[in-house]
Amino acid sequence: MEKRETIAVGTMAADDILLEVEHLKTYFYLGKDKVAKAVDDVSFAIKRGETVALVGESGSGKSATSLSIMGLVPSPGKIVSGSIKLNGKELTRLSEKEMNNVRGRDIAMIFQEPMTSLDPLFPIGDQIAESLLRHKKLKKKEAKELAIELLKKVGFVRAEKMMKEYPHQLSGGMRQRVMIAIAMACNPQLLIADEPTTALDVTIQAQILDLMMDVKEEFDSAILLITHDLGVVAETADRVLVMYGGQIVEEGTVEEIFQQPKHPYTKGLLKSMP
Ligand code: ADP
Ligand code: MG
Repeated sequence: MEKRETIAVGTMAADDILLEVEHLKTYFYLGKDKVAKAVDDVSFAIKRGETVALVGESGSGKSATSLSIMGLVPSPGKIVSGSIKLNGKELTRLSEKEMNNVRGRDIAMIFQEPMTSLDPLFPIGDQIAESLLRHKKLKKKEAKELAIELLKKVGFVRAEKMMKEYPHQLSGGMRQRVMIAIAMACNPQLLIADEPTTALDVTIQAQILDLMMDVKEEFDSAILLITHDLGVVAETADRVLVMYGGQIVEEGTVEEIFQQPKHPYTKGLLKSMP
């Protein structure tokens, strides 16, 4: 079979490419002779500052793709093969310690349910400061001041008070704001947001999305936005990747995908749009 190449990489200037994923395969071994091909030979690239939407039905491999990029595929899952380069540097060859430095500093991720990412035992301020201290040479006092500044940026007017709150005292939307603050603390070049608004009330979803896009502009990061909401895609994305059965079956600008969808899955998806 002919090797599938990303259309986009060919047309991108090498200097512009922030993340380049090539032939990524992430398989989960489910016991004797049973393998789930969560990511089955996926290639794509993201340019600096670009917003790329990754869409696809549940189980199509979106989360497995993002976790693979972060080096966080749970055992017994295993990346069988592939290349993941950030600024030309191969991430799959890094040690766990080096990858720990990449996470949070170069690539940050926010998930659907922020409660699972926040530690219930520590106040919000400590958790933001910890993330800062892990990656930056700062005095404790400086980290605290920066944490307050970040909380203000994500919309907490009374940021000093928020520093002392515990995760369970906050609403889902507030927790996601805190997660955005933590994600952006070290000014990562890439933010991966895996269905960041799915668990939130509809009225809060747009606010969080707006905030994420504002923060992205301010920090000049690229975003890989995983969503199944095509309205969100239309509003935010520069480019769209469509995943189906572990593969990227279609890729294009928002206009291309919305006006001339090629794959049956994409056509169906657009038909179901209100
Ligand atoms: P999506 O995020 O698009 O909904 P996922 O990446 O979570 O899809 O899942 C892709 C496929 O991999 C699914 O078939 C799912 O059942 C399987 N999978 C995901 N995580 C695991 C795991 N930890 N163990 C076994 N199979 C998994
Ligand atoms: Mg998922």
